[in-house]
Amino acid sequence: MSRSEQAPRGVHEHVDLSWRASVMHTCDVLVIGGGSAGASAAVASALQGASVTLVERYGFLGGTGAMVLDTFYGFFTPGSEERKVVGGVPDRVIEGLDRRGMVLKRPNTYGAGAGLTYDPETLKLVWDELAQEAGVDVLHHATFVDVLRDGARVTGAVLATKGGLRAVRAGAVVDASGDADVAARAGAPFEDAGADGTAQSLTTTFRMIDVDVEEALAFPKRELWARMHEAAERGDYDLPRREGSAHITPFPNAMHTNMTRVAGVDATDPEQLSRAEREGRKQAFEYARFLRECVPGYARAHLSGLSVQIGVRESRRIRGEYWLTRDDVLGAASFPDAVARCGAPIEEHHAGGDTRWEYLPDGETVDIPYRCLLPREVEGLVVAGRCLSASHDAHASVRSMGQCMAMGQAAGVAAALARGGDLRGVDVTELRARLAQLGALL
Ligand SMILES: Cc1cc2nc3c(=O)[nH]c(=O)nc-3n(C[C@H](O)[C@H](O)[C@H](O)COP(=O)(O)OP(=O)(O)OC[C@H]3O[C@@H](n4cnc5c(N)ncnc54)[C@H](O)[C@@H]3O)c2cc1C
Repeated sequence: MSRSEQAPRGVHEHVDLSWRASVMHTCDVLVIGGGSAGASAAVASALQGASVTLVERYGFLGGTGAMVLDTFYGFFTPGSEERKVVGGVPDRVIEGLDRRGMVLKRPNTYGAGAGLTYDPETLKLVWDELAQEAGVDVLHHATFVDVLRDGARVTGAVLATKGGLRAVRAGAVVDASGDADVAARAGAPFEDAGADGTAQSLTTTFRMIDVDVEEALAFPKRELWARMHEAAERGDYDLPRREGSAHITPFPNAMHTNMTRVAGVDATDPEQLSRAEREGRKQAFEYARFLRECVPGYARAHLSGLSVQIGVRESRRIRGEYWLTRDDVLGAASFPDAVARCGAPIEEHHAGGDTRWEYLPDGETVDIPYRCLLPREVEGLVVAGRCLSASHDAHASVRSMGQCMAMGQAAGVAAALARGGDLRGVDVTELRARLAQLGALL
């Protein structure tokens, strides 16, 4: 359901916390969320000379890319001829991983274009370095809970920290929380995942070690899926998803898996999310048992790690100045205010056993306009990453980490350029020029 008046689900009354928080400091740009989008936003903004505070609820940067996953998609177009469509801060991330021999390019076996598989622990270190080099002030273990505002303008945020509530004032705020927490709290309109009857499912990923990788790779994916199907139909295993993937990592004898599926969850509802965590964990152990007992290469394997939290593909998507649609994606639309590009297909992990894929014309890309990052009805705020303004289907294409980093650097540069927090008034020609200087591909 779309809304702007109703309190977020699970919260019955909006309690203004700002009066209780002591003001910690003031900065030019405040970024909430240190995932692919937020870390890129903070680094890009600081490289423009802004004083930047980056707030992250966990003790590391990288977000879903460090907690759940190990492969960047979206850097390259799929199709007959591969083209790189993401650059700038994302390139620096890859360089940092590459210097340590912790990234490998995997060919387009999955359908989403070539992937860049990395070690998530090294990714955390690389983001630390990039943030430090750029001069970003990173605040870990701080959770955004409310906005500071002056009328319709967001002027900062209230954070829950171990030291109690703290407030940070800022010239401009970037919402890179993934769930549009800031935009929602500020009263900006948004659409919940599932508003049109479909919502991307959630996934707990896991890592298997002591795998005979050669033997596992020699077993074709179609046969793996057929075996899953048979095992589940026989009733021997509880496997809600009858496909999914396991792939190599930078380490010998280890495979990363993306198999579990928890459907019908509103990830912004704390009770539903808690149930989903337990269900995802249970499924992960069941898939691991299936792999060990039924799949070549896994006979001596062990589950060695679960994702830090269940992976959330989709939650709130803001209603911004432009709403990216399925037709835009499948028609490879271009826009004069493009700040990022995407060639990835619509990849929908709906409830049920399979995944739906729909492709752009061969080799083409869709633009992500700056207007998709500007929430309606509020000032001083720009969003980046998977909470952008897009329909369910369009989102299913543009949510890859390559695009989230590209959107992030655009939001960060825009926030640094915004005079008096006027993000709508940012000169798009200058924004695009600064992005090109950073190495963005537009
Ligand atoms: C199971 C799964 C598999 C996927 N597979 C791939 C893949 O293989 N390759 C790919 O490119 N993409 C993949 N995606 C998509 C991609 O991972 C996400 O769309 C992308 O990581 C989102 O980036 P983000 O920066 O917008 O959000 P996130 O990476 O989720 O970052 C949000 C950050 O904000 C922090 N945060 C949230 N709320 C608050 C708050 N209130 N206060 C402070 N901090 C907060 C979080 O801790 C987090 O660090 C997958 C997604 C899932 C869930």
